[in-house]
Amino acid sequence: MTYDILIVGGGPAGLSAAVNGRARGKSVLLLSSPMADNPLWKAERVENYLGLPGVTGPELLGAFRRHAKASGAEIRELRALSAMPVGETWYLSGEEHVFEGRSLVLAAGAVRGKALPGEERLLGRGVSYCATCDGMLYRGRDVVVLGWTESAEREADFLRRIGCAVRFHDRPQGVEILGEDAVTGVRVNGREEKADAVFLLRPAVAPTALLPGLAVENGAVTVDRNMATNLPGVFAAGDCTGGPYQAAKAAGEGLIAGQSAAKWADRTNQ
Ligand SMILES: Cc1cc2nc3c(=O)[nH]c(=O)nc-3n(C[C@H](O)[C@H](O)[C@H](O)COP(=O)(O)OP(=O)(O)OC[C@H]3O[C@@H](n4cnc5c(N)ncnc54)[C@H](O)[C@@H]3O)c2cc1C
Repeated sequence: MTYDILIVGGGPAGLSAAVNGRARGKSVLLLSSPMADNPLWKAERVENYLGLPGVTGPELLGAFRRHAKASGAEIRELRALSAMPVGETWYLSGEEHVFEGRSLVLAAGAVRGKALPGEERLLGRGVSYCATCDGMLYRGRDVVVLGWTESAEREADFLRRIGCAVRFHDRPQGVEILGEDAVTGVRVNGREEKADAVFLLRPAVAPTALLPGLAVENGAVTVDRNMATNLPGVFAAGDCTGGPYQAAKAAGEGLIAGQSAAKWADRTNQ
């Protein structure tokens, strides 16, 4: 099926876009990493969300998610890896699945930290962001998993189950990826480890890795007042468009992005 609106990110911005897209009768699919990987999950108390002083981050996020689900949005726990236009629609890959949509809302939060040395050069040559997509390529071989998410250890176990020899590092620092034309290993805190592949499991994927050609400035996605990006049918909302990094701003921008995406879907569905 072709969804009216595809959304990447299950934080306040993405969930608000989902509710507001559904309010206009649009079919909505939202892909996100697990709730426990969302920054709001770590907020002990949120004092400045209007009307709800002292609410905990998990309470607020849980309420947003229940609202989006009750509105009829489809929510799937998958990491979005790339999106590309085909004619008037967008194809979005979520791990081993591909989804089609008339519009796309990027609500993937702020990317914390820079690319690792060697990461961009060796992407697709042993550097992967997805264990379930690329794991089979490295059956019977040495792989290193570098995880910054709650679910990373489970993904390392998945690779072990399919026959990879896995070394797992939980939230490592001081990492360099080694290799000229293909990954040959990693250096973690000065210690070299041999590897044929390195899986980088982060809660967020850089917007430009997801959508080549997307305009960004100082790491923030460039948007107009309708939350439209430079790419036709692509809107962005929340922390990925820059500060202030706050839930209320994210929810407000998500509302605008959801409405704009709904309008776009109407235009392309004549
Ligand atoms: C400790 C802490 C305390 C905070 N306290 C407050 C506070 O008191 N008040 C306040 O207003 N704000 C607070 N914030 C900030 C607030 O959490 C953020 O501003 C808000 O969550 C941003 O919403 P968002 O929807 O733009 O992005 P996010 O909430 O970051 O949501 C994006 C989601 O998309 C997922 N994602 C990213 N890329 C992909 C992909 N490729 N595929 C699938 N999923 C993906 C991410 O894992 C994440 O779950 C706090 C943040 C932290 C860390």
